[in-house]
Amino acid sequence: MSLAARDQQVIWHPYTQMQTAPAPIAVVRGEGAWLYADDGTAYLDAIASWWTNLHGHAHPHIAERVHRQLQTLEHVIFAGFTHEPAVALAEGVLQILPPNQARVFYSDNGSTAVEVALKMALQYHHNQDWPRPRILAFRDSYHGDTFGAMSVSSRGTFTAPFARLLFDVDYLDVPVPGREAEVLAQAAALLATGQVAAFIFEPLLLGTAGMVTYEPGVLDELLRLCRQHGTLCIADEVLTGFGRTGRLFASHYLREQPDLVCLSKGLTGGTMALGVTTCSAAVYESFLSPDRQKTLFHGHSYTANPVACAAGLASLELLLAPETRAHIDRIAAAHAAQAQRLAGRPGVRAVRTLGTMLALELAVPGEGTSYFSTLRDQLYHHALRRGVLLRPLGNIVYTLPPYCTTDLELEQIYQVMDELRELVLPAEPTA
Ligand SMILES: *Cc1c(COP(=O)(O)O)cnc(C)c1O
Repeated sequence: MSLAARDQQVIWHPYTQMQTAPAPIAVVRGEGAWLYADDGTAYLDAIASWWTNLHGHAHPHIAERVHRQLQTLEHVIFAGFTHEPAVALAEGVLQILPPNQARVFYSDNGSTAVEVALKMALQYHHNQDWPRPRILAFRDSYHGDTFGAMSVSSRGTFTAPFARLLFDVDYLDVPVPGREAEVLAQAAALLATGQVAAFIFEPLLLGTAGMVTYEPGVLDELLRLCRQHGTLCIADEVLTGFGRTGRLFASHYLREQPDLVCLSKGLTGGTMALGVTTCSAAVYESFLSPDRQKTLFHGHSYTANPVACAAGLASLELLLAPETRAHIDRIAAAHAAQAQRLAGRPGVRAVRTLGTMLALELAVPGEGTSYFSTLRDQLYHHALRRGVLLRPLGNIVYTLPPYCTTDLELEQIYQVMDELRELVLPAEPTA
């Protein structure tokens, strides 16, 4: 029996309607930006395997570090114990985050990094005997799939079955160009209640919303407003961290600094599941007390797993190497040039680029814009047949490739993105 057939007997895949989805592609090997299937087909990983991979698949440096760590210490309880990889990775991450970030709390993925940030922010106020019940978030945001993360995310198809059990959130529209003043007014009104514990946001780039971008200036103003009203700011850099936006973190485009930062995805270069929530000294110190009730009661069995931390350290070394900086700049420049070529072409409603992300919004009628549209499936399968893994969000076709992706490989991605554009064009009238 083929691997795909065995899979179909036992596996339930994420974000997949199992009754109608085609058989999964069985991947046997990865190298650089490429994935190799059991039938010998090669796929160019233009979405970095759900936005996680930074340096290419099966990177030898990361593999070597993980191997060594596995032979030294595979895991240890992280309450009452510590180990070198956790401390070194925390030191390394704090060194490159905004300078006000003072402490690192480990968890397992992006959703848990968000849960931890929300709990820290709520308990920060609680510990000062001044609890604040409300959270502010962007209406179109995505912060993960656990209940707290769903609560602060966009309400829609993904969350509908759970709607009654999600906690109430104050929503702001996304301050896309032209709407800044309006959104700042919304924020000012909501913050003025003094009830808002925290504002959680995807800085400059909302991934799941369709690679929607907005300017640093308005985010700085939102953070300033929050500061005035004693509201903590949580930058969810799960997607934007580790060079994705052209700088090491999207927060580096800002003058203001967030109070808390959530990291995952690129944290281990796409090798292992790991999450981090960092916070300022003020947040951390609000938990220090002889009173044990002020403790942050949160932890996971695999918190700060040494192997995952070793992968994170190895990935960080690669990230900070000058070659990687050059690759990020090269990809960002290629994307910007491609964005210029695409703007105004038939079938293009908008083009957006930020660092190593390039998104093409196709001009299609309403139905085609849905995550579930048949058009989206056609686009996805056309790209796969052409050997490129693209995973359109409705009518948004985007790439976010590993940093090792070569110019030639970028050309191949652009070529297939352009074919997807042509697929949505109305048929030429025949003479
Ligand atoms: C992917 C993502 C998450 C959730 O991370 P998981 O590791 O999938 O749980 C949270 N926030 C943002 C911005 C993301 O892109």
